[in-house]
Amino acid sequence: MIDITDHLAQIRARVTQALSKSGRSHDDVTIVAVSKQQPADAIRRAFANGITDFGESYVDEALPKLRSLTDIAAQWHFIGRIQSNKTRAIAENFQWVHSVDRERIARRLDAQRPHHASPLNVLIQVNLAGESQKGGVELAAAPELARVVESLQHLQLRGLMTIPPADLAPHTLLETYSTLRELGADLRRGGHRCDVLSMGMSRDFETAIAAGSNCVRIGTAVFGPRPQ
Ligand SMILES: *Cc1c(COP(=O)(O)O)cnc(C)c1O
Repeated sequence: MIDITDHLAQIRARVTQALSKSGRSHDDVTIVAVSKQQPADAIRRAFANGITDFGESYVDEALPKLRSLTDIAAQWHFIGRIQSNKTRAIAENFQWVHSVDRERIARRLDAQRPHHASPLNVLIQVNLAGESQKGGVELAAAPELARVVESLQHLQLRGLMTIPPADLAPHTLLETYSTLRELGADLRRGGHRCDVLSMGMSRDFETAIAAGSNCVRIGTAVFGPRPQ
């Protein structure tokens, strides 16, 4: 059996070390435990170890798990590609969405967010390497999408997310993540709220933290390999 307690202790130590290496020892980094393809009891074990934020990529897989876990005070983050016919389920069941990449999706999420709920926290996904198989808005189009999200009453713009190509050399990876940090700084200068940079996964979260990440999405390093 995978020892989630042990994995989380190691990840937290590595996060702390990465922060102090880059002179950010007073900063907080949120660990979003990516629980896609993991059973509800693995999520319970992570929660028992102090993890409160969980990431899911597939709506149909996530909903039954969310419903069986209503007794834990978890924050649910939707991090996968968003199909139009799934926006209602996302707007009704998640607190965060990291993968908004077009205006039409933003408008649907806004219209479908229950009015009694707090605004849905939105990160704009940016596709920095022009990979057509991945979601994300182009860098140059991100400010306009940020403006649209900010204008919508039931959405709260919070920041940016990116998924870099898997095979980047370390210095290129650092540059890619730094580009997202700079975009965040530009948006703040433009008056937008942009306090979350969601970047870094199991394989590269230390590099992402060196570039300014304050939200890492970690799956396999927490839960072990995903069952196929
Ligand atoms: C699956 C996934 C992760 C986690 O990946 P690991 O390599 O298991 O840490 C992070 N972000 C997104 C968008 C994902 O789809």
